[in-house]
Amino acid sequence: MQIDHKQLFIPGPTEVLPDVLEAMAQPLIGHRTKEISALQQSITEKLQQLFYTKNLVLLSTSSGSGLMEASVRSCTAKKALCCAMGDFGKRWYKMALANQVPADLIEVDLGRHVPAEKIREALATGKYDLVTTTHSETATGVANNLEEISRVMADFPDVVWCVDAVSSAGGMKIEVDRLGIDILLTSTHKALALPPGMALCTMSQKAYDRTAEVEYRGVYFDLRAIYDRIVKKNYQYPSTPNVSLMFAMDRQLDHILAEGLDARFARHQALADRCRAWALDHFALFPEEGYMADTLTVIENTRGISVADLNKALGDRGKAISNGYGDLKEKTFRIAHLGEITMDDLNALLADIEDILGL
Ligand SMILES: *Cc1c(COP(=O)(O)O)cnc(C)c1O
Repeated sequence: MQIDHKQLFIPGPTEVLPDVLEAMAQPLIGHRTKEISALQQSITEKLQQLFYTKNLVLLSTSSGSGLMEASVRSCTAKKALCCAMGDFGKRWYKMALANQVPADLIEVDLGRHVPAEKIREALATGKYDLVTTTHSETATGVANNLEEISRVMADFPDVVWCVDAVSSAGGMKIEVDRLGIDILLTSTHKALALPPGMALCTMSQKAYDRTAEVEYRGVYFDLRAIYDRIVKKNYQYPSTPNVSLMFAMDRQLDHILAEGLDARFARHQALADRCRAWALDHFALFPEEGYMADTLTVIENTRGISVADLNKALGDRGKAISNGYGDLKEKTFRIAHLGEITMDDLNALLADIEDILGL
């Protein structure tokens, strides 16, 4: 890609292909027209391929957090079990409490995954009817193992399973139907490589049926209302969606499918392998072995460099990485290699970092 701007190696927003950006500049269409129905249907069918699912796909004109709040509120009738391995996982718990949804929190140390057996133990109490899990925790670079968790969830068929895949979906393979994920949600501006402004989720029949048992689902983020409208009104929405971003999404999904899903996931894996090997040569990796996200690498600042200064120097060279998240600021730094980032892009970034730090 020809770069004439600051290139983003941060976990969203990320690089967007020029023709995808241009797709947003086309004239608008009404949100109660045959054209928008066709557009939404096209997007849905492509997302169903990307997520290996037959479930309906819901778009939301909000960032991903909107659908996190929507899912825990719309689909918990009894009590939610929120499994956190960092701030993004905890956000779901805070949202539950702020909406008066009864919830408990399972927390693990930063840098660790949530063991599936911990989830099993909690579910065995029979107290919960919904579980929230993070796939890739963007604060720590840890990826939970969805295969392991899915085997636990299979033993609790009445529990709705929600997965936050905001920083992994589109960069790591997630087979929604085979794993039995009821709600898989993500934002547009991470591994899908679109501008920010929308979120999307898959929703199973089980999750939909659950909403009937929940009295106060709100209005804007009522997943049942959105689902019903899509089904009854041929892929339309209760309120006006971000039509421009939908044009871009349709275009970008063509790019994703043209690259080939396996090729796309393999590219992310190769970028992660390269970045981890580099990190081990010069620093250390923050996440525990065997549970690392392929979309970003969180590096422990073992040399005590100033991450802020490094990023400033990178900025002069037209690149940006991310400092550590929250309490991990300056103790770690994050290199995101997701969406449309290529191996050449990553190599150029790592060469710049070596040059700046004199490695
Ligand atoms: C970025 C992120 C979010 C929040 O997404 P927004 O689109 O900014 O609301 C939630 N979870 C994870 C894992 C993320 O990386």
